[in-house]
Amino acid sequence: MALIACPECRQSVSDMAPACPRCGYPVAGSPRSARGVDGGVVGKAVGAIGGWLIVPWIARMVAMAMFCIVLTVMFLKGRG
Ligand SMILES: [Zn+2]
Repeated sequence: MALIACPECRQSVSDMAPACPRCGYPVAGSPRSARGVDGGVVGKAVGAIGGWLIVPWIARMVAMAMFCIVLTVMFLKGRG
């Protein structure tokens, strides 16, 4: 919970309040309310989690592919 300046009268208003108590300006209805902040935080969290999950997955896939290639080469050389 934080205080924001009312865009209409510059009165300090709680961001939890639906409207400015002085002039009645609908503060919470503005696009820069808690909803937008939550969306940004969730987006950053999803991006961070996705990065943590996907990057090791790609590294594992590359390591597995390299392992298979090395095994195949060693098998062919050993047999040949
Ligand atoms: Zn106001």
